[in-house]
Amino acid sequence: MPPPGEDTRINIVLIGPPGCGKGTQAARIAGRYEIPHISTGDILRAAVQEGSALGRAVEATLAAGGLVGDELMTDLVCERLDRPDARNGFILDGFPRTLAQAQALDALPCGAALIVLLFAVADTEILRRLGTRRVCATCRLTQSVSSAVDAGPDSCPYCGGRLERRKDDDPETVRRRLATYASFATPLVAHYEKRAVLASINGLGALDEVTAALCTHIESRRRP
Ligand code: AMP
Repeated sequence: MPPPGEDTRINIVLIGPPGCGKGTQAARIAGRYEIPHISTGDILRAAVQEGSALGRAVEATLAAGGLVGDELMTDLVCERLDRPDARNGFILDGFPRTLAQAQALDALPCGAALIVLLFAVADTEILRRLGTRRVCATCRLTQSVSSAVDAGPDSCPYCGGRLERRKDDDPETVRRRLATYASFATPLVAHYEKRAVLASINGLGALDEVTAALCTHIESRRRP
């Protein structure tokens, strides 16, 4: 863990339902502030793809749209935050998901207060978005095709990689993931509201508008 007390650090946590645009926005914010985008979902999917011990342990949970255990997730994130690229801060996408994970993050010496951003997007919009989501197998950027049945372009416009549908983006699994999110998010949001570190962002705007809203809030927290 990097030494505490550096006021240039930016520690950001994004909270929101699957498909709310967290991942896309996290990549933009990470580039702007030169901090790593740490997506626990991406780390777990990469482990499943590699067939590592971690991947084998979590594969069924991911496929079912459930949650991986708090202890395993906390160890994974601790290890990741300890790497040198997180010395100026981080943007966490998908962690914490539960109150226990939030408490574990609070106990880490992160060196600056958390900036917690909650994405508000209705379930009907989430189902529509995830029905048309494709992810680049190479650069991991998320693309949208024009309809759920439309195969869309088969290669990524940024790097030429193959676009594929995430296994857990089928409507039934998305409904389960939304239900899981709803059951855990309420105490998580209450935890951060109590500490006045949470801001709610309308996730329905155009990509650039949402990024601008996020940056405005981050800047206000850096220079109060
Ligand atoms: P995501 O890409 O954030 O939607 O995550 C995909 C899946 O990974 C989730 O549906 C969970 O099964 C698992 N996962 C990711 N992050 C966490 C976490 N912090 N705690 C528990 N499970 C997680």
